[in-house]
Amino acid sequence: MIIPKESKLTEEQLDEVVAIVGEYGCRVQPIVGHHRTIYAVLGDERETIMVNRILGLDYVDRWDAIDTPFKLMDLKSEMSHHKVKIGNSIVGESPFIIAGHCTIDPKNPNMFIESAHAVKEAGANCIRGGVWKPRTMPYAFQGDDKSIKILMDAKSQTGLPVDTEVMDDHQLAIAVEAGVDVLQIGARNALNYSLLKQVGKATADKQIAVLLKRSMGMGPVNEFIAAAEYIAAGGNADVMLCPRGTSPTMDGYRNYPDESITPLLKEKTWAPVIVDPSHSVGRAKYVPSAAMAAMSYGADGVIIETHSNPKFGIGDDPKQSITPEVLKKLIQDINQIWTIRKQYSKELSPA
Ligand code: PEP
Ligand code: MN
Repeated sequence: MIIPKESKLTEEQLDEVVAIVGEYGCRVQPIVGHHRTIYAVLGDERETIMVNRILGLDYVDRWDAIDTPFKLMDLKSEMSHHKVKIGNSIVGESPFIIAGHCTIDPKNPNMFIESAHAVKEAGANCIRGGVWKPRTMPYAFQGDDKSIKILMDAKSQTGLPVDTEVMDDHQLAIAVEAGVDVLQIGARNALNYSLLKQVGKATADKQIAVLLKRSMGMGPVNEFIAAAEYIAAGGNADVMLCPRGTSPTMDGYRNYPDESITPLLKEKTWAPVIVDPSHSVGRAKYVPSAAMAAMSYGADGVIIETHSNPKFGIGDDPKQSITPEVLKKLIQDINQIWTIRKQYSKELSPA
């Protein structure tokens, strides 16, 4: 990791650095922060002569060698001060709440717009709406390119940022072009390394955050952080980790609730953690408890499927969406938990 003396390298300086590390089979990935740009050297960056040549450049402040597989996402990396900014929020400074439909019904755009206004009124910071859906059955509704317009209408009417899942290059291009603020990578694609690389590349320097779900089968914490590293190494460090329940399921729930992984992630990575209790427990009646548990574990926020009239929803909405009224009460409770948690981190946490 190269830390320049000024806030960033000039083009000529960057060319020189790229040429030097290229001689040792490495490449440079600039990571643009709010205050300065740092330059990750990817490849075998332990080559002493290469490091010394870089340190010999008078515009380089220092070389940060990180003894970890996660050069960018590690808590000990130079990126640890990086903040993910979405709309008017800096994630981590107050609870970040994403809420809205599982699935946008293109036949009923008004229903999505109504829910979008209602979740804003309830206190959400970002609106979710599935334009494209990963469905177990190939004959089930797969989403519709046209729903992107409905999502963007919700953004312009409410002024809130919007989140949607993308599963391939086609959807990625449409979402980036439309101006989606948060790209969701779903549980089914969390290990699709080609897509993760593509997403990092397509969203670099675009002020688009990525919400990376934990895949159903993901065991070790490191596997989750490594998936995020792919996106950051592709060029976008605005990555948030989203535990959403794993398999095998806990009897009665949709998945095995995993909000308790939050402190383990936070010991290793600076990435914000936004828990998805909706897919974890899978039934509206259990969602508030799971959301509060997530916040107690130290999550930076939650993503909650919310619908003004769940029984008229499609996708997961009829069974697991809460209503905006429940969301409003839940956000108030989450704010209280946030205050309590802060005291724990200050007074009682050994870290
Ligand atoms: C969703 O958010 O609607 C979704 C499909 O989530 P996951 O990828 O976690 O299953
Ligand atoms: Mn869903």
